Amino acid sequence: MTIHANSTQARDIAHALHPYTNLKLHERIGPTVISSGRGIYVRDDEGRDYIEAVAGLWSASLGFGGEESMVEAITAQLRKLPFYHLFAHKAHEPGTDLAEKLIKMLPLPNGRVFFNNSGSEANDTAIKLAWYYNNALGRPRKKKIIAQMKAYHGVTIAAASLTGLTRNHLDFDLPMASVRHCDCPHHYRFAKEGESEEAFATRLAEQLENLILREGADTIAAFIAEPVLGAGGLIVPPKTYFDKIQPILKRHDILFIADEVICGFGRTGNMFGFETFNIQPDMVTMAKALSASYLPISATAISEPIYEVLRDNSARIGSFAHGYTYSGHPVCAAAALEALRIYETRNIVGHVQKVAKPFLAKARALLDLPFVGEVRGIGLLAGVELVRDKKSKASFEPARGVGMMFQTEAQKHGLIVRALGDTIALSPPLIITGEEIDDMYLRLGRTFDAFI
Ligand code: PLP
Repeated sequence: MTIHANSTQARDIAHALHPYTNLKLHERIGPTVISSGRGIYVRDDEGRDYIEAVAGLWSASLGFGGEESMVEAITAQLRKLPFYHLFAHKAHEPGTDLAEKLIKMLPLPNGRVFFNNSGSEANDTAIKLAWYYNNALGRPRKKKIIAQMKAYHGVTIAAASLTGLTRNHLDFDLPMASVRHCDCPHHYRFAKEGESEEAFATRLAEQLENLILREGADTIAAFIAEPVLGAGGLIVPPKTYFDKIQPILKRHDILFIADEVICGFGRTGNMFGFETFNIQPDMVTMAKALSASYLPISATAISEPIYEVLRDNSARIGSFAHGYTYSGHPVCAAAALEALRIYETRNIVGHVQKVAKPFLAKARALLDLPFVGEVRGIGLLAGVELVRDKKSKASFEPARGVGMMFQTEAQKHGLIVRALGDTIALSPPLIITGEEIDDMYLRLGRTFDAFI
């Protein structure tokens, strides 16, 4: 691609610092400038259309435009009250309505909802609340957080520390000292020779309990997990994994934080990932599809028993001193309320269950290709792992950047996918139709043809 002087590309290279980007490479190749969108499609500034097969960052659940009622709800709120905060006994209708709505949707009766602006902040809040809770209970040692290797929980200092991907820690002086990582529940990569999924899940649960005993249960506040590990490689845990680890956490009085930032609001074929995996969380963090990504908003929901402890402690010390200027921003809350209304009125969960069948069947068919080692998926999430050798499961050398090469090739065929190492992630907008799924795999097939 030629980069013309004064073009958006050239000005971007000169001024913008991009997230998750090889900055030197960016100077050479420049960005693809996305200028408009509709449904599952986005268009670049040269008029090329792409199927956005990852919903942006697993987030644009209703696609990239065309939802008039979203625009109306947002503009109506902008006209009525563009900003107010929730600090110190202030409230506004959209914030209250959204908190009430979420508590009705979640298995946290009489719980409470705290609003943040991003998934990272939602997880940071969860950690701060777990600490505050244990201090309030007179357990100042019970502070460590266990997260999984390969989990992704965000980029703020606490959330990046929870993230079990070393590249997120490298040269950022992370992780924080209070975080421990347990084994990743990826059977294909980490099971022993001949070990069944069931036996693998049992072994991981035992290893988790050993970690807890080694550290001392009285030093561990919480365990956090995504129901399906997203950015770490689209890893679907064995069916009984969560059944096996939950009693262990309960026994040691360790809170379960479900990170529903990707899985929440229909992605796995239920409204929440914790339903799909039979998880009983004490806290739930949500973002992305909460507002269909029309505007940034996230939430941290807590159970009633946790709330009661926070309430009494705030009275004792004078304040619950946590909150963002934009916590529960009324325009973002209005966007979220409208997104949730659309999910219900259009039965988005039922739609996902219906289209997930062909979506996953077509993904699994890719296993016949020579360089596809594993295909994993659930609902509208699929990961296609590229390997150098199927039999030995040997990966390509990381330096070759095969996943990135595939991602670049896909764009030539009008398809945006996301490379997670050498796993190609598919996570299209939840509104995708059967015909659009066919078209998406047609483009993916052309990418494989060119690639092999
Ligand atoms: N948790 C999960 C599971 C995520 O996938 C992400 C982002 O992709 C985050 C947390 C962080 O969210 P954000 O990028 O909005 O801070």
